[in-house]
Amino acid sequence: RVPVTALLKRPVDLIVRPDHAHHAKIPLPGDLFAPERHNSGGIEFGERAALDRLLTEVKAATPDLKPVADATPEQAGAAIAAARAGFAGWSRTPAATRAAALEHAAHLLESRNAHFIALLQAEDGKTLDDALSEVREAADFCRYYAAQGRKLFGSETPMPGPTGESNALALRGRGVFIAISPWNFPLAIFLGQVTAALMAGNSVVAKPAEQTPRIAREAVALLHEAGIPKAALHLVTGDGRTGAALTAHPDIAGVVFTGSTDVARHINRTLAAKDGSIVPLIAETGGINAMIADATALPEQVADDVVTSAFRSAGQRCSALRLLFVQEDVADRMIEMIAGAARELRIGDPSEVATHVGPVIDAEAKQRLDAHIARMKTEARLHFAGTAPEGCFVAPHIFELRDASQLGEEVFGPILHVVRYRAETLARVLQAIERTGYGLTLGIHSRIDDTVEAIIDRIQVGNIYVNRNMIGAVVGVQPFGGNGLSGTGPKAGGPHYLTRFATEQTVTINT
Ligand code: GLU
Repeated sequence: RVPVTALLKRPVDLIVRPDHAHHAKIPLPGDLFAPERHNSGGIEFGERAALDRLLTEVKAATPDLKPVADATPEQAGAAIAAARAGFAGWSRTPAATRAAALEHAAHLLESRNAHFIALLQAEDGKTLDDALSEVREAADFCRYYAAQGRKLFGSETPMPGPTGESNALALRGRGVFIAISPWNFPLAIFLGQVTAALMAGNSVVAKPAEQTPRIAREAVALLHEAGIPKAALHLVTGDGRTGAALTAHPDIAGVVFTGSTDVARHINRTLAAKDGSIVPLIAETGGINAMIADATALPEQVADDVVTSAFRSAGQRCSALRLLFVQEDVADRMIEMIAGAARELRIGDPSEVATHVGPVIDAEAKQRLDAHIARMKTEARLHFAGTAPEGCFVAPHIFELRDASQLGEEVFGPILHVVRYRAETLARVLQAIERTGYGLTLGIHSRIDDTVEAIIDRIQVGNIYVNRNMIGAVVGVQPFGGNGLSGTGPKAGGPHYLTRFATEQTVTINT
């Protein structure tokens, strides 16, 4: 591997490195889930011309940035009523037809790649690298759930039974699903939730994050164009109050939510307090994600993977690294290398190809992160502070803590916290990780198989990455989602996801 510092000096190369864009290939291929495509994706160095072409197209794109009005409570109620009416027809539509619409949507996304990249940059502040990966991931979700749905919903499963009796199990849609999605993956997570619910035969009312309604508007228009009936999919924009009104509505059959643990709990309480049938919640929430790097790890690789995991997407991924535990013996050297690599990052305008770290989502997020940095400056040891331009930017920071508990809550931005540990106190590191209560991602950098196995065996974290970075789960390859405070499962982009959106029906016939 090339040392990270060398790579970071050549920003365009960084953008095209395969492990920074596993699911981003230009031109986006129409083929499905050829496993060899994953992790060998990204733009090859020889494909520089393709990158130039894409950049020209992104610059020329004119996404619709007209404001989107918040829905009124009446409109939210009307959307649920319309989705209820649309459920009968959509749930009886053959699974193959539903799947074909999703595949068509994937194709449309790919053919409008540059347009969606421009939109993600304009509304969500995504860098080219992140926006490209996100369009790829969104198309992957459409195709993966279509493929899974054909298998699961295409025919019923015959069950063994005594002579004279036929038994079969079928999956069916539940009814109206509410899909509430976050601003950090306004296209991929939005479409992932919505397409899963639709593929399972539900009608959907989608409520995107208040920060990214335009992307949602275009994603819904694209699904309608791809063949999802208007009656089966409705968009309702607004803030948390709109989400609360939708989840409190008596006529809903399920909720899929990605966002904070607090809001997931609130939705859970709302659903529990309702009369009538018991409404399931699928929630994917946050994490205080750790990485453990011991003395056998390769320092250059650790530095590269830490910088990617903590600072890419300005740390605004729920999978991002927050707490790095470094073995004391190598800590000084490793921290120095990580800081050296972080120093090379360019922070600024996301539409510039050389930018590694774009803005944070809004002024409120910046304020929260600045307050955390100010607290850390008094309570922890500052190893690195980057410089950020004026505006909604937060520069990467590296702080060393005496103890992991100093961190407190999840901090959703480019701030890395380092804690030293001694080899004989690894058990305490694992306890500290468990004590956070979260269980989303974990990184391990070690060349000792026994250590790696012992950690995997002990820790109940949803996604564990060994000797690589810990972000960017690939649909159908690394099913994604956590435990404990991090969510309910099932994992997005995994083989069990669709079944949780469905009801099961067993039919026994005396023949
Ligand atoms: N699936 C993304 C990843 O693996 C994170 C999703 C999120 O931030 O909600 O990095």
